[in-house]
Amino acid sequence: MAAKEVKEGAAEGEAKPVVEKQTNCLACNKLIKKLKRYYRDGKFYCSKKCWRAFINKSKSEETK
Ligand SMILES: [Zn+2]
Repeated sequence: MAAKEVKEGAAEGEAKPVVEKQTNCLACNKLIKKLKRYYRDGKFYCSKKCWRAFINKSKSEETK
């Protein structure tokens, strides 16, 4: 009977590209739940309120 060698943690150091998916709200930085997400202009927010907050913020930065 030969001892069976089990290799653990193989393929270490394998670089895999990190795909950054936007999962956090741009206004409050909270994690967005799939059911409650609010999509606007290619970005995700957790609610319409946060979208408004983000728009207001970016607007006030524009008009300084
Ligand atoms: Zn939010």
